Amino acid sequence: MIADEPAGSSSANPSQAEPNGKGRECIPEMLTISQDGYQPWTDAGIEPQLRIENIVKSFDGFNAVDNVSLDIYRGEFFSLLGGSGCGKTTLLRMLAGFLTPDSGSLSMDGLDLVPLPPYERPLNMMFQSYALFPHMTVENNIAFGLRRDGVPKDEVAERVSKVLDLVQLSEFASRKPSQLSGGQRQRVALARSLVKRPSVLLLDEPLSALDKKLREATQYELVNIQQQVGITFIMVTHDQEEAMTMSTRIAVMDKGKIVQVGSPAEIYEYPQNRFVATFIGSVNLFEGPLVENQTDHAAIESDEWGGKIQVGRAIGYSLGHNTTLGIRPEKVRIAKIHDPMALANRAVGRMKDIAYLGNSLVYHVALQSGKVLKITSPNLGSTSDRQFVRDEEVHVGWAPNACVVVEP
Ligand code: ATP
Repeated sequence: MIADEPAGSSSANPSQAEPNGKGRECIPEMLTISQDGYQPWTDAGIEPQLRIENIVKSFDGFNAVDNVSLDIYRGEFFSLLGGSGCGKTTLLRMLAGFLTPDSGSLSMDGLDLVPLPPYERPLNMMFQSYALFPHMTVENNIAFGLRRDGVPKDEVAERVSKVLDLVQLSEFASRKPSQLSGGQRQRVALARSLVKRPSVLLLDEPLSALDKKLREATQYELVNIQQQVGITFIMVTHDQEEAMTMSTRIAVMDKGKIVQVGSPAEIYEYPQNRFVATFIGSVNLFEGPLVENQTDHAAIESDEWGGKIQVGRAIGYSLGHNTTLGIRPEKVRIAKIHDPMALANRAVGRMKDIAYLGNSLVYHVALQSGKVLKITSPNLGSTSDRQFVRDEEVHVGWAPNACVVVEP
């Protein structure tokens, strides 16, 4: 994060970042929503909870957030995903009220957020640094905001106890943050945000302080907790796997703009353009003129592939249009040169590199044009998975319905 840290993000005074009692009025009690099949954005009758319209924020004439519009629905786990400097934190900070947009509007359940200071917004932000009070126990860290808001003592005790239970930290209630692991500190920060019952929780790279293994375990925990409390989570992350694992929908950002919004599967299977296709996972790209286009199939002529590439559906371009196709490495099949390969798209290549990753193998196969195709294959535990050797000739291929058209 580059912008100045808001007062609430330092360990000296975390509480100022939290909204006041107004936030509590939005959700009187924690809700329980099951996210299985929960797709409110597909239902025209459901109003978005948060509406971001044409938001622009510039620094010294440079548009860090450039005309962004987004609708986010109640109960979603929504991720803003993009590389460093793409504007995701700036957008989150405008939602939290730490930055004011130059133009555009932000509203929540019809309430205009822009004129409201952070503490009057019905949302709460959990910072990367967790911003815990080092001298207070876990319990007091969590209770702090409620006490400051004058919540009655009994209610504070009850709410803190419930939320400690939710994040599975009841037995650590009297410890100080320095006596906790990174993952436990993360859960205290989460508990402190949830105890105020905000309508929306903003999370800025919430797992970045954790090592890989703990991060993976915590991803599931966080989603479980989000589903239990039913609060809308909006998370900033640069980690595509994290976004894919946790989100109902992802907005992919590049250079201040949103380039695609969709469910993890939509974004992975149908990337709208080259940036998304290459940012989310890896992809083999082939370019060439469209030479066939029927209702149920199409084909491009690709010099790099060494002939026609068949596609299992019609393509929305006219014949001759220079078209880019994307094929994911796990959808490419590989076989010994003497084994038959009954796929419409197949070619001969030479094995250039083999990487053994434990659970999978990655092959780099050079086609006759010199283009290198990346192929991944699960490690099925038999020695046959490791039968290929460098420099041997192999068949590679894929089914016509396995590739997608990618916009430039
Ligand atoms: P990261 O993952 O590295 O935090 P990000 O996508 O969150 O990246 P932002 O922090 O939103 O990126 O920054 C977007 C752009 O705005 C960057 O080019 C950054 O240099 C610029 N920027 C952010 N805050 C300020 C500021 N206070 N003053 C000037 N430029 C800023």
